[in-house]
Amino acid sequence: MSGTPGEHDAPADPAGFRPRIPAAEWDDWRWHMRKRINTLGKARRWIRLTPDEEKAVAGSAGKYRWSITPYYASLMDPDDPTCPVRLQAVPAPGELTEFPGSEVDPVGDMYYRKTNRVVHKYPDRVIMLITEACPVYCRHCTRKFHTTDVSGTYFRDDEGGSFDEDLRYIADHPEIRDVLLTGGDPLSYQDARLEEIVSGLRAIPSVEIIRIGSRFPVLLPQRITDGLCEMLARHHPVWLNTHFNHPKEITAESAAAVDRLLRHGIPVGNQTVLLRGINDDVTTMRTLMTELLRIRVRPYYLYHCDNVTGVSHFMTSVEKGWEIMEGLQGHITGFGVPQYVLTTMIGKIPIAQPYFTPHPDGLLLRNYRGQEMVVDAAAYPITEPDTP
Ligand SMILES: *Cc1c(COP(=O)(O)O)cnc(C)c1O
Ligand code: SF4
Repeated sequence: MSGTPGEHDAPADPAGFRPRIPAAEWDDWRWHMRKRINTLGKARRWIRLTPDEEKAVAGSAGKYRWSITPYYASLMDPDDPTCPVRLQAVPAPGELTEFPGSEVDPVGDMYYRKTNRVVHKYPDRVIMLITEACPVYCRHCTRKFHTTDVSGTYFRDDEGGSFDEDLRYIADHPEIRDVLLTGGDPLSYQDARLEEIVSGLRAIPSVEIIRIGSRFPVLLPQRITDGLCEMLARHHPVWLNTHFNHPKEITAESAAAVDRLLRHGIPVGNQTVLLRGINDDVTTMRTLMTELLRIRVRPYYLYHCDNVTGVSHFMTSVEKGWEIMEGLQGHITGFGVPQYVLTTMIGKIPIAQPYFTPHPDGLLLRNYRGQEMVVDAAAYPITEPDTP
């Protein structure tokens, strides 16, 4: 065997017990999908599991799916159970603990679902849940019930069956100009099947933009092949949002995947979830956002972690989110600052603290350093002048 993950910019392997993998296999996303880690025996080839992790894996068996691509496993610290990659991928006891107020679907995807796959909540855009499958089952998934829970699904019909009803709904609602494919992870489909879905949407004249939400650039960047990008580029305008949560996830391979997307004209944005113990500090978030800009990924949303059953142990306070936003706004360029939102039944609500308050003379402004000034309403009117 030649080649090790180390040759592919994976971190060093101090424990020396990681499997050696030939480059031809390492570079092939199908190999990673086949070799996903889903048993304690397989996991022990990559990390030294703690008793808590072993207990959580055993306890969640039959309840939550567990699956880690060798690529993502190569980013885990083999000896540190608090490794931010490991916390996202290896079950923890918190998943099985009841938490006050937790729900399987607090954002109401099932409530707003109009067909088997189409969720229509906003006037001009829909999401289309096209699969339950993901390369890694992130422990913090907002759709944990749909993706990770063995018995749960948002589908009322067959996952892989006909899309006719879904496409007809979109065609019958010409106000829908923006369709976001999500899941699960839409790129779990083979290119040919994905192209059938995308061209089905493209055949609807009122659909202007197609968006894809995919974590493959983070979990298995090898999936972002030139072939996939060429296929997507045949159906432009196509946008892609991915989901980096920690600077450790930005590797040469993920940067190359992003570069392939960009070179095919597919803008890449990022959605981060604020997660306790993973990225809930200013330094980590500032590094994450600036590193994303360095690989030309535009930060889009910072999600407050929803109180989802099996995910609640990752929640932080809203104050923590404010502290992080304060540490970003003004300290780095405006287009490196995501919008901090809480996803609710009534939509995504921006919840960052404002930088202004009403003042008798106009607006009281403060900047990132805490300096304040009043802009006078005589110079910058707040209300529209009365027209005679
Ligand atoms: C997030 C979401 C969208 C897309 O929202 P944007 O703010 O446009 O990115 C659309 N529909 C639903 C149901 C969503 O949850
Ligand atoms: S890839 Fe996305 S949809 Fe899939 S488990 Fe992770 S967060 Fe959930």
